[in-house]
Parts: sequence; structure tokens; C-alpha cells
Amino acid sequence: MATQTKDYYSTLGVKKTASADDIRKAFRKLARKYHPDVNPNDKKAEEKFKEISEANDVLSDLKKRKIYDQLGFYSDNIDPAAAEAAARGGYGGGFAGGSPGGSGRAGRGAQEVPFDFGGFDFSDFQSGGSGRGGAQEAPGGGFGGSFKDIFGGIFSGGRKARGPRPGTDLEYQVSVDFWSAVRGGVARLEIERQETCPACKGKSTTGGSIECPECSGTGQVTQMGGRMKFNIQCPRCNGTGKVQNGCPTCGGDGVVTRKEPLEFRIKPGTRDSQRIRLAGKGNAGTDGGAAGDLYLIIKVGTHPVFTRVGDDIHVTVPVTVAEAALGAKIEVPTIDTHDGGGRTQLKIPPGTQTGQKLRLREKGVPSASREGVRGDEIVEVKIVVPKVQDERSKEILRELAKLNPEDPRAELLAEV
Ligand SMILES: [Zn+2]
Ligand SMILES: [Zn+2]
Repeated sequence: MATQTKDYYSTLGVKKTASADDIRKAFRKLARKYHPDVNPNDKKAEEKFKEISEANDVLSDLKKRKIYDQLGFYSDNIDPAAAEAAARGGYGGGFAGGSPGGSGRAGRGAQEVPFDFGGFDFSDFQSGGSGRGGAQEAPGGGFGGSFKDIFGGIFSGGRKARGPRPGTDLEYQVSVDFWSAVRGGVARLEIERQETCPACKGKSTTGGSIECPECSGTGQVTQMGGRMKFNIQCPRCNGTGKVQNGCPTCGGDGVVTRKEPLEFRIKPGTRDSQRIRLAGKGNAGTDGGAAGDLYLIIKVGTHPVFTRVGDDIHVTVPVTVAEAALGAKIEVPTIDTHDGGGRTQLKIPPGTQTGQKLRLREKGVPSASREGVRGDEIVEVKIVVPKVQDERSKEILRELAKLNPEDPRAELLAEV
């Protein structure tokens, strides 16, 4: 199980600064010497030929050579950008200056690389013989972070981060009846929200520690990145192998779900679909994180007579043929019950047609956003034709028709 970390330069007998031409010449020379055709049944020559071929394969390719120079080893699975980042981060000084002796451990270089490549040539890199010794001697200590920075793109992450986390927002739909929305009122509802755990005060732990369930106390976990296997510092316990004892009341969540009655004021003029934000009334945060907000979406109820359109009130009012033709003063309903019992006088001008709209200024809904402003009431006239039964009425209508012979469809038919 020797670790096969290789010094390709010394394998080819060239300097690290060797040019592409130097490398090609050195390989050809050695290849002629160790080629299996020249050395039939010579196991040592065959091994040597494989070694120089591998060295040439990496060093003769500019991209591969660059990665090798940066990390001290090469694998097809290494992303050049990651190698670059690793090199910039101060890791991977390479294995320069030394042919790997006996065990094949590469000394200084190996310890500077903060991960191992299980399943590849480098599988024993960290764990061979001395357990995790190599990794732990490495400078800086915090491998987890550096590792994630370097190979950030490989892993999906998704591990629960510790530290303060803000609470999420909540959204509730609240039904408000027509009159409460117009005049204002109080709405009551029961909401279910996460609140700070009273036992651990949101810290998720009651003190004391247990073996980390993620790494079973070893402080290391294995992650897959494509076909590569990495042993990395356990992100849950940060390599300590221990985690704090979870709070039994909240199960370590830091929050508990509670039903809570809520009472809030409905402003006069509140509109349908309006969102009301109650800051800090959402789910509680954990470990000191801020609470989310509570959003109430108002659903305003309907009324059998009045229809709200923004701050305006629409109402359809039946009018007789005589009232519409001759003009009249009629009584129409309003939303004001305090003056005149919810009625007001409306003048129907002579010759009013059905569907015509008449405006009663400032008889609409008080604006919730603009102080002292009210909408209008829009009265739509609907002419009601009398159900004529008696001969006398019929006679009068026939006479009326004779006196007014104009065809109401003349214009319509002329258009076609
Ligand atoms: Zn752990
Ligand atoms: Zn708790």
C-alpha cells in the first residue's frame, strides 16, 4: 500500500525548469532504452517504461504539467481552476526536490495538501500508518474552510450552518368583512409560529457534549466529488469529533412551534388583497438571529348592494321610465349610516338612459393611505319597465309611441 507520489522530473532526469523540447528528448532517450521490445521479459524495464511514459504523459502536456507543478500530483479529475486556487492558497508546494523514499510518502509537500484522494494513487496520503497525523500537522489548522474554498464547485454543500440564523417570514390570509374594511375594526386570528425555545433560549443546546453523529467522533468525513473521494474535516463538529448536546425541549432546533392568538387593527379603507406587515412577528430566529416578519393578506368580504372598486363604491339603482324620462329626485343608499340612515338624495336628470352612471362625490370609502380623502359613490341607473296589465295604461303607451315616432334602432341599423 505504498503511496505512489511521483517525481516525474527526476523520473525523466530533467530539471523542473526543463523546456518542452528537453522533456521530449529525455523521454525518447529513456524510451529507447527501456522499451519492452528492446527488453523482452524484463519486468524491471517494463516498470521503468511505464513510469517514464506516465511522467512524459503529464509533463509533455502543458495543462497537465501546470497542475502537477501546482499540486505535486496529477489526476484527470482535477479541475485546473481548482489547482490554480489551491496553488494560490499556499497549498501544494509540490514534491520537488526529493525522490520519494521507501514508503513513498512525500514529506513536506504531502502535508501541505489539505485533502487526500482516496481511491487514487494518493489514497494513503493522510491515513497511511500514522492515521490522520499528516493532516493534523498541517499549517493553519482550519482545513475545512480552505478545502471548501478550493473545491467549492465540486460539492453541493447543504450542511446546516451553525451560528445565528434569522427566522423565516410567515404569511396568513385574513378574511375581513365588508364593513370592517370600510370603517376599520379589529381582526382576530390564530397563527402558528416558531418561537424561541424557552428551555435553551434559542441556543439549541443545553451544554455538555456528545460524540458527533456525523463522523462518529472521528472528526473526518468522506465526500464524493465526481469519481473522487475526499476525506475532509467533519463540518458538523469542525474536526473535534464532539458536538454539543441538543436541547430536548426543541430537539436542537432552538425554536418551538406554538399556536398564538393574534389581534390586529384594521384601518378604515383597507382594500382587498392588501398586505399588512407586522415586523418581527414571523418565525423566531435561532442562536440570536432576528425574527422574520408576519404578512397578513387581507381578503375583503362582499356586500349584497355595494361593490368596492378601490375607494369608490358602486351601486346599481332601479329607476322608473317616468323618472328617467321626466327627471326626478330619488333616494339612493350610501355607506354612511351615521348621517341620514345610509341614504342620500340623487337628482336624476330628464332623459337619463339605462346604464348611465351618476357620481356622488366623496360618498365612497375613506382612503387608508391618504388622510381625509374619500372615494366617490357611482350610481348606475337601471330603468325598470312597468308590467302593464290594464287597458288604460296600454292606451297611454300607444299614444306615447305615436307622439314619439323616432326609431331607437335607426343609428344601429345605419352602422351595419
Ligand atoms: Zn463530526
Ligand atoms: Zn431548546
